Amino acid sequence: MATITLSFDNGPEPDVTLRVLDTLRRHELKATFFVLGRKLIEHRDLAVRAHVEGHWIGNHTFHHEVPLGLMTEAGAASSEIARTEALIGDLAHERRFFRPYGGGGVLSKSLLNRESRDHLAQHGYTIVLWNAIPEDWRDPEGWMARALEQCFAQDETLIVLHDLPTGAMDHLDRFIGSARDRGASFRQEFPASCVPMIRGEIVAPLEPYVSGEGD
Ligand SMILES: [Zn+2]
Repeated sequence: MATITLSFDNGPEPDVTLRVLDTLRRHELKATFFVLGRKLIEHRDLAVRAHVEGHWIGNHTFHHEVPLGLMTEAGAASSEIARTEALIGDLAHERRFFRPYGGGGVLSKSLLNRESRDHLAQHGYTIVLWNAIPEDWRDPEGWMARALEQCFAQDETLIVLHDLPTGAMDHLDRFIGSARDRGASFRQEFPASCVPMIRGEIVAPLEPYVSGEGD
């Protein structure tokens, strides 16, 4: 049976994040919001509401402009993580969730560099990747069919959606309903296969996601 974990990246955004929270509440679902530090400065209240309602808050870098694996300036990648974590503050989950910026959602060696890998390990982070990316930002009307296809092609799905003002989240309610109608169940916990580092400990090979490692 298909089990689905929802995650929402690149927010918080006024209006959209609130609507997503309302939809999740209506369906009695808990999810994780991977937030950007630069947006938290203005919209931390939205992350507070998500946290209060039982959702988990994760770190998704400060700027989200250059994947950490492509950064060469010393300190740049770890500052992307540390600045955002400081803004998340007491909203952080005790496992300290971090999701690298994928640049189009591709799992590749550009996700991390050695410095950011070491920073995450030293500070006890849990790296949360993904295994379904229906590209809702590119196709706000058509993503749902692709999402359902991806979710029912495997037992455990961790899907990346975006609480961005593209219009895509207008279809979140219908997506959840359709997935449930087809027998899927939802849970907040991540599939183990998407979590290569837990509390700073590497539990699955990280080389595929770290630039300069093994190449
Ligand atoms: Zn992102």
